[in-house]
This record gives sequence, structure tokens and C-alpha cells, in this order.
Amino acid sequence: MEGYRETEMCVHCGGSCCRVQPGHCLPSEFGSALAVRAAVTSGKYTIVLLLDSKIKARVVRPHYKDPAKRTGCIFLNSNGCELPWQDRPYGCRMLRPRERDGEHCKPEGTTISEAAGMWEQSGYLPPLSSCVIPDR
Ligand code: SF4
Ligand code: SF4
Repeated sequence: MEGYRETEMCVHCGGSCCRVQPGHCLPSEFGSALAVRAAVTSGKYTIVLLLDSKIKARVVRPHYKDPAKRTGCIFLNSNGCELPWQDRPYGCRMLRPRERDGEHCKPEGTTISEAAGMWEQSGYLPPLSSCVIPDR
């Protein structure tokens, strides 16, 4: 399975990435509309709408730790991520940790916008046209 494991830098950093927002999942991580529905109704995962000049599409990812402030990941606890590495969202596994202080950690592979396009094509979500989209 592709991706990057935690490094000493991650331990030192304490999961800054996870304290901002969860990584995105790909449809293949669920495999069916039923599995997506079960994950979302469990409260552990949510569907996020991306709305910018390039895309209007949804992506599934872990729920926020603090839904009111829309920050953090529900799976982050004091010991780090509670999910085994292989069960973490694609976007989490594909974040390449920085090697030195002052560098940026680098998201690699399928971007969140590309993932959202995949989700819209997957057939695992209700049609976007049936959803209420807030005015911009
Ligand atoms: S990937 Fe980067 S931001 Fe996330 S825990 Fe590791 S060093 Fe920190
Ligand atoms: S699933 Fe784990 S690795 Fe991904 S954002 Fe949440 S706590 Fe971090």
C-alpha cells in the first residue's frame, strides 16, 4: 500500500496536520454506497462539499474533532491517530512528512479536488442535484 508512515518528525510535531483537518478518502476505500452510508451514519465520517472556482463536488473524509469550528480529526487522540496505518484515509497516507524544521509536509498523489471528482463519479453518493447547495 502506497504512502508514508509517521516519522520522528511527526512524533515531535504531534500531528499538526490532523489538528487542522482530516485527510480525504477515495471511493475505493469504501467500495459501496452502503459502506459509505454506514460510515457517515456512524458519525465517524462526513461528506464535505468543495466549492471553489474550479470544482463543485463532494468528498468523504473523517469527521471533525470539533464540528462547530470545523477543525481537527475525530480519530486524533493523545497518542496520535487511533486508526491502524492501512485503515487511514488516502490523503493521510499520502502526506509526505517534512524532513527538516521549516520545510512543508507535501501532499502527494490524488488531490482532494481530484478525489472529489472521483466521488461524484462513484455512484456512492446521492446525486449532487438532489442536495441543497448554500448560496455563495
Ligand atoms: S505529516 Fe507533517 S504536519 Fe503531519 S504529523 Fe507529520 S510532520 Fe506533522
Ligand atoms: S485519520 Fe488519523 S492520520 Fe488522518 S487526519 Fe485523522 S488522525 Fe490524522
